[in-house]
Amino acid sequence: MARSKVAPVKYLSVPRMELQAALLGARLMRTIIECHTLPINERYIHTDSEVVLSWIRSPSREFKQFVACRIGKILSLTEPTMWRHVPTKQNPADCLTKWGKETQLETDSQWFKGPPFLYLPPSNWPIQKILSGKKTEQNIPTTSVLHSLSPVSDTFGVIRIDGRTANAEYAEYDARYPIILPKQHHITRLLIEDYHSSLGHGNRETVVNEVRQRFHVPSLRTLVDRAARDCQRCKIAK
Ligand SMILES: [Zn+2]
Repeated sequence: MARSKVAPVKYLSVPRMELQAALLGARLMRTIIECHTLPINERYIHTDSEVVLSWIRSPSREFKQFVACRIGKILSLTEPTMWRHVPTKQNPADCLTKWGKETQLETDSQWFKGPPFLYLPPSNWPIQKILSGKKTEQNIPTTSVLHSLSPVSDTFGVIRIDGRTANAEYAEYDARYPIILPKQHHITRLLIEDYHSSLGHGNRETVVNEVRQRFHVPSLRTLVDRAARDCQRCKIAK
């Protein structure tokens, strides 16, 4: 099932039109759920609009009336976690609006089958690149430690390393896209302490390897050593 609309005569900015499209998609999803009896376990909605995704995920609700009203409707129909990013080049919805030589509507085309990534596990689906556009690239100064890590933002806005080429494709999602944590932060320290104690106050390399399955922490070995040195139980055991 698909729906498409032409742009209204009254001027609307591109992000606002993309927001209208997102609401249309959310309503269409509801219609599809209500109109058949197949059991549905998971629901996802993809948009190529990074602005709309950021509005949907934003904890702040201080939007202008137009946006606030539609985001409210979208969130009454869907959960923010259902929303995923689809790169524009892989967006089958563009077949209708960007008509050209390459547009194919045969039964084995992307229009009917969806983008190829849909046939892979969700962990292999595209995620939003923070450094994709010039505009966003300016958000990360070259002096920042994040800059060299080619960060990406996941569905929840958590900053992760883009591990699509670095790690094996069969690795777990968290291992492929480890969450970037600052080495000085209290939470990072608590987390490493927790790994240290839950892994039996033992071997440093075990702790380092386990943390790396989910997180990227600069100077991790130093922090793991410090957690062991400051641990009361380890002090008593010595
Ligand atoms: Zn200990």
